[in-house]
Amino acid sequence: MADDNNDCQASSSNDMIIIEDPQSGGDSDSDDASLSPPRPKMPKKLLGAATYKTKFSPTWTKEYPFITSVSGDPSRFRCNICDKKLKCIYMGKNDVVKHCQSNSHLEQAKALKDKPKLSFEVHSDEDLQRTEAELQLAVLTASSNIALAFHDRLSPTIRKIFPDSKIASKYHSASTKATCMLNEAVKPMLMNNLLESMKVQPFSLSIDGSNDTDLKKMNPITVQIFDLSSHMIVTRFLDMYTTTTGTAEGIYSAMNAKLEELLHSTNPWAL
Ligand SMILES: [Zn+2]
Repeated sequence: MADDNNDCQASSSNDMIIIEDPQSGGDSDSDDASLSPPRPKMPKKLLGAATYKTKFSPTWTKEYPFITSVSGDPSRFRCNICDKKLKCIYMGKNDVVKHCQSNSHLEQAKALKDKPKLSFEVHSDEDLQRTEAELQLAVLTASSNIALAFHDRLSPTIRKIFPDSKIASKYHSASTKATCMLNEAVKPMLMNNLLESMKVQPFSLSIDGSNDTDLKKMNPITVQIFDLSSHMIVTRFLDMYTTTTGTAEGIYSAMNAKLEELLHSTNPWAL
């Protein structure tokens, strides 16, 4: 019997089973093995990093800022350049390194580099006022539950209906720029404010789960907390995570992992 797929090669003759261990040396060892009593073939064990089930580490993002964690799945990381979720369970950071050296990632990175980039540079007061106007309208449409695609029509309309305004004449914020401002500027600010409030005030959490039949269910987390500015108890959306089970233990574990992730994304909790 020979198994080419295993690192260990085994052969048998009648009732004799010989196990050759490539780690043990040359032919003299196999001769010794043939003289030893028959031994049953040992099941192959996972060796090295595969046994440790490496989890995503937020520290990797310092060296690779284009990767992020995958909500509810610490065995994967997300490459935002390739828009893919990839495993890091076997080699950990080396999985990230290996992906970054792959042809597909390098091609995507090159294509992204050649794309025109959004500019938020401010060279004058007019630039600042224009950016503020773009930001205000982005927040207004998001808080009013208006689709971000609305900005694709809004931007040229503003330039058209305010021909006497220097600010309006420079207004250029379609859906891509509005989305970028909301995700990269407004969201981190609101999230940081909420997490800072959670450090010093009591709060309660509420979760819910989607009732669809997909393998993974979506679980939004909301926070009920006293708002110092309005002097009212408010409910704020915290984040979303996925679960593959509907048990209380599974929901709690995933929620706890999400809170741990948020904990590491900000300053340590002052509790
Ligand atoms: Zn990539």
